[in-house]
Amino acid sequence: MRKSLPTITLPPEIKKVFQIFTKAGWEIYLVGGAVRDLLLKRPFNDWDFTTNAPPEEIQKLFPQSFYHNKFGTVTIPLEKERKIEITPFRQEAAYQDYRHPSQIRWGKTLEEDLQRRDFTINAMALAYQKQPRLIDPHHGQNDLQKKLIRAVGNPTKRFREDALRMMRAIRFSSQLGFLIEPRTFAAIQKNAALISKISAERIRDELWKILASPYPAEGINFLRTSGLLHYFLPELEATYGVAQAKHHIYDVWTHSLKALASCPSQDPLVRFATLIHDIGKPPTARGQGPERTFYNHEVVGAKIAREISQRLRLSKKESERLWRLVRWHQFTVDEHQTDKALRRFIRHVGKENLSDMLALRTADRIGSGSRPTSWRFELFKKRLAEVQKQPFTIKDLKINGHEIMKKLQIPSGPLVGKILQALFQEVEENPKLNRKSYLQKRLPIIYHQLGASAKSSKPPKEARQ
Ligand code: ATP
Ligand code: MG
Repeated sequence: MRKSLPTITLPPEIKKVFQIFTKAGWEIYLVGGAVRDLLLKRPFNDWDFTTNAPPEEIQKLFPQSFYHNKFGTVTIPLEKERKIEITPFRQEAAYQDYRHPSQIRWGKTLEEDLQRRDFTINAMALAYQKQPRLIDPHHGQNDLQKKLIRAVGNPTKRFREDALRMMRAIRFSSQLGFLIEPRTFAAIQKNAALISKISAERIRDELWKILASPYPAEGINFLRTSGLLHYFLPELEATYGVAQAKHHIYDVWTHSLKALASCPSQDPLVRFATLIHDIGKPPTARGQGPERTFYNHEVVGAKIAREISQRLRLSKKESERLWRLVRWHQFTVDEHQTDKALRRFIRHVGKENLSDMLALRTADRIGSGSRPTSWRFELFKKRLAEVQKQPFTIKDLKINGHEIMKKLQIPSGPLVGKILQALFQEVEENPKLNRKSYLQKRLPIIYHQLGASAKSSKPPKEARQ
């Protein structure tokens, strides 16, 4: 059955590409994600074309283009991140080790090129001569309407050619809000173990896209039910069915997914931290039913987070942020907390991660069935902002080491540091004391106390024997 095409308006520079190739006697088609997203009326960046012209000929037609990869892709940059990419027809090449082909084989026809593509919704082409015309041998338009991700051809064969396609199926499903067609899904379940053949970086890139998508929790759920999760995040899989104490209505897995779904941050790393914040619970669970406890789960969880960071090859900076968010997620929100306690919390989390930590807490609350906030939590946020305006580190003291040495006539050395530390402790308790006149007045007293304690901390000779 031929489906009617929705109105598609192409920008002038894209129409121009069609015209230039056609005039030179070559075939030219828009393909892949661009066609899919045009039909879905979804924004996208890359305009991918395929043609029977070889790269050298494409370059002749577009002198401003560049060509420097083994896939034969010629790139024409557009404004911002956007670009046009033109690749000669390709066909399925020899696959080794369940990974992308080691060698590229050029195709002779558009049909061959569409055949090698992963899913029916990614295997449509658009021709344009006055009017757009859809070429859709695998019925991708049908699957777009049914909201289905379906492999082109035999799914098991396709996943054995390239195991990353299993992650891509789930990624597209959570980006588009589609289901995976049952035979395609069954083939992922059957072949899930092959994902171990794929590099950690490529798995992480897909995982990050799932986390950043509009349906991250659905995506993570599919990762578990397909069996893929087991091979790269077994610690998260282990939270499934782990019951919590009475006041928790959900098991750890369900709570983690609900938290992820409610995370106000768009950042995949913050969403990932939200997803794994309770990953230390299964190994720390003690007791059953209402008596169940998870003491130190944030400490154990932070250690697991570090292992996961290494496994997924996160950068040092990402790994550090993930660690901090998991390690300190159990922070107390209490109107009786001292400013000092709040400052310690800020030091632990890091100023730059505060809003992410608060986003995680909001998600954690919603994921436990609570309201997004409370008057206490609001007060806590206000106080965090207030407290940051007050002195923080020794550097913020209204007196420095040089002034201390001059005033007390002492040489530089560890004693100066000790005096600074003592002054800082006073100011941390009571920020109003951070005045030069007050600190100067305190100097001789602290000097005396420290001098005395330094002496008295050394026991008399006889006592040491
Ligand atoms: P987006 O760029 O929005 O993530 P996309 O569909 O453009 O989506 P790309 O990864 O850019 O995805 O790939 C472009 C096209 O190349 C796809 O639409 C698909 O037709 C094909 N393709 C990409 N990766 C594979 C693969 N591993 N196996 C088969 N075909 C693939
Ligand atoms: Mg793309």
